[in-house]
Amino acid sequence: MDKLRRGLMMIVAAPSGAGKTSLCRRLVSDHADLDLSISVTTRGVRPGEKDGRDYHFIKQEEMDKLIADKALLEYASVHDAMYGSPRDPVEKALSHGRNVLFDIDWQGAQRISARAPGDVVRVFILPPSMAELNRRLVARAQDDDDVIQRRISRAKNEISHWAEYDYIILNDDFDRSYAELVHIYHAEASRRARGLWISPFVDELMAEKI
Ligand code: GDP
Ligand code: ADP
Ligand code: 5GP
Repeated sequence: MDKLRRGLMMIVAAPSGAGKTSLCRRLVSDHADLDLSISVTTRGVRPGEKDGRDYHFIKQEEMDKLIADKALLEYASVHDAMYGSPRDPVEKALSHGRNVLFDIDWQGAQRISARAPGDVVRVFILPPSMAELNRRLVARAQDDDDVIQRRISRAKNEISHWAEYDYIILNDDFDRSYAELVHIYHAEASRRARGLWISPFVDELMAEKI
């Protein structure tokens, strides 16, 4: 049976290095009904990143135009660069009953939640310690030392927003954290309010002659 659903927006936020990107990538690759919102950003491409897969890497002028055209659901300045979530792919996905995952910062989380509170679930990822956060950023080896230092110094600001989220995952053991994220995703996507198919289906059940 094709189940008509109302799409969900799931936001995952965390301080840089907490493991948000790794968790989000895995969730999207394991769930065919979930799309990742690919942000636009003005920051430089990291080694291993691909334009159109990790981000749409754009110039500040293009960012200004997207903002002026109201083509972004939200945008924010993070770590000295601008980031934004393109509106079109999200609206298309939701209108087809698909779910959309956002890997965005606390400012974006606030803006998207304010627009559609009933369709949003917010998850925050905590690192086990600041020392481990530092270790992961260094181990990832994709940012220069001064960039890592700036990310660490902003981590406490991001963490200070923890109480604005519905779920908190402490990303100590990756597989356990991933299992928690999957449980949250399934529970939230199964909420009665999302199941547009349920009422007509129950009518059919009631009318069925046996
Ligand atoms: P990471 O922190 O190591 O994942 O580094 P990134 O450069 O990928 O992300 C930098 C920050 O920008 C993170 O806090 C992201 O959550 C945030 N971010 C990424 N895309 C968006 C977006 O479209 N909108 C907003 N508001 N924030 C974003
Ligand atoms: P973020 O997107 O939050 O900046 P990433 O997903 O890029 O974080 O993770 C930062 C680094 O930490 C990556 O090298 C990743 O492989 C590693 N990592 C993520 N989760 C864990 C974990 N539970 N234990 C150890 N290393 C982890
Ligand atoms: P990074 O530069 O390490 O990829 O990302 C830095 C931060 O920017 C992360 O916390 C990431 O979640 C956030 N970010 C990425 N894309 C967006 C976006 O489109 N909007 C907002 N608000 N934050 C974003």
